[in-house]
Amino acid sequence: MFLSAAAGLVCFLAQPPAAHAWGNGGHRLVNKLAASSLPGDVPAFLRSPEAIAEIEYLGPEPDRWRSPAEPELVAAQAPEHFIDMELADALGPLPHRRFDFEASVYAAHQDPKKIGLQPWETDEVWERLKSAMREYRKLTAAKPDANTGAKPAANPDIRAVEQAILFYAGWLGHYVGDGSQPLHTTIQYNGWTGPNPNGYTTEHKIHWQFEGPFVEANMHEAEVRATMTPVKAIDGDMFDAYVAYLRNTKTFVEKVYQLEKAGGFAGAGTAESREFTAERLGAGASMLRDMIYTAWLESAKPVNDPYAPK
Ligand SMILES: [Zn+2]
Repeated sequence: MFLSAAAGLVCFLAQPPAAHAWGNGGHRLVNKLAASSLPGDVPAFLRSPEAIAEIEYLGPEPDRWRSPAEPELVAAQAPEHFIDMELADALGPLPHRRFDFEASVYAAHQDPKKIGLQPWETDEVWERLKSAMREYRKLTAAKPDANTGAKPAANPDIRAVEQAILFYAGWLGHYVGDGSQPLHTTIQYNGWTGPNPNGYTTEHKIHWQFEGPFVEANMHEAEVRATMTPVKAIDGDMFDAYVAYLRNTKTFVEKVYQLEKAGGFAGAGTAESREFTAERLGAGASMLRDMIYTAWLESAKPVNDPYAPK
């Protein structure tokens, strides 16, 4: 018993940064607030209490993929929760496609697992969501019979595609939530490294202290909801918009260290640390809501069928 517990501890300590990001509670909160604030022009099934419960449940889903029982999955998906922006930017402008980025990392004799793949995973899941919404539009657009005017029987696949949409929306929420946590965007992910004139903590504790127990103990729906921005459609390219969101998150890295130094993440923290954390969770929830909404709007755009006969 003792041996296996000790081995488990070593395994935990050796894990890459950000073992859980926002913890269970924070991820559930981000997903629930996004799902429950979608505007009235998304389909009703997406705004139902069952849909909100499903999307909330899926908030921590990718963190459930870290069990040693699924070693290949753990290895493949762990880098998708973070990006060390300093290292990624040193390689030049971020390419939109995952393999182009990985090729540039390998060409620089570095390892994509260490730099992280956050924006690529997020954008790819968002595109899955948009694709499922396009299918939904197709299946629900069946027209009445031209002669009799009779409505066609509802296609049973509609229920199935609704389930797919909820899954993609919930799955997406995990990464968008991670992307509002400043320590998921930086080489300073868990203890200050390099020159440290301000004497920030160098212990490997700040990451989980901030996003785990502090959030669990102090963050509630009402104060996070109060920080959310009004709903909006995201203009332009989604990958670029998402990277801009990550860059904004990154501007708060030093703030996290300042708050920690002032005791902001111990116990109930300070008024400032609670306000800051609520704002970060609210930023994640707002971005997730806007990304789901934008996927819905963009799924209406006609697409050329690459397999259509010429
Ligand atoms: Zn994560």
